[in-house]
Parts: sequence; C-alpha cells; structure tokens
Amino acid sequence: MKLQAVQQDLSPGQYAVLEAALRQRQAVLEQALQSQLGEQGRVEHAREQLLQDGDGEQAHATDREVDLARSDANLDALRQVNEALQRLRSAEFGLCSDCGAAIAFERLKANPEVPRCITCQAAIEHGQAGTARKL
Ligand SMILES: [Zn+2]
Repeated sequence: MKLQAVQQDLSPGQYAVLEAALRQRQAVLEQALQSQLGEQGRVEHAREQLLQDGDGEQAHATDREVDLARSDANLDALRQVNEALQRLRSAEFGLCSDCGAAIAFERLKANPEVPRCITCQAAIEHGQAGTARKL
C-alpha cells in the first residue's frame, strides 16, 4: 500500500537547512531574472505574475517578449521556491503532493522545492502520472 499516515518529522535543524537552501535559490533566481530582464520594472511585473499565478497555472502568460520567454524556466523555478517557502511553515511541507508520503530529507536537501516524492516524480517523468495517484 502506498497510502500511509506519514507525517514529516524533520528536525528544526533540518528545516533550517532547507529554508537556507530555498532562500539561496530564491536569491540566485531573482538575480538571474533581473539580469535577463534587464529592467527593474519588468522584474516587478514578473513578480506580480508570480503572485497572481500562485496556483501554478500560467493562464496569463500569453504575449511574452522573447527575453521574458527565455526567463520562463527561472520564473517557474522561482515560483516553486516561493511555494516551497510557504509550505515550509505548514504541516504539508516535505509531503508528496500526489501520494502524501514523506519525501526523504536527502531529496529535499538536494532540491528543497520538489513537491513530489521520488516515486511520483519518476511516474510523471515516465509519462504515467495517472498511475501514481492512489487517492
Ligand atoms: Zn508521491
């Protein structure tokens, strides 16, 4: 059975490590976006979009300029980092968004913003997203 009543039991020290890693990624990504976009104003615009699209949808991303499109990967990454920072304060942090299993600390440390456990992530990467959902 995949469904277990798992709860993440990260220690305060582990949370601190993950939060520091997330904040560092956030800073790096914001810097990258800023240099890609060139202008402060457009970074602010991107920020607003991030706030509006907090649910992960890109419904408003239509007429982007070329350099803005190029920064999409960074924007997505930044959004994931921001969401992870929010989750960090909730009981859901470190739990797979698909199956609810606890994500291994080593995995989180390498990639703190991952929303899924390695099993569900692998399923998605192999194009079998449906099979991992047991709920
Ligand atoms: Zn999972």
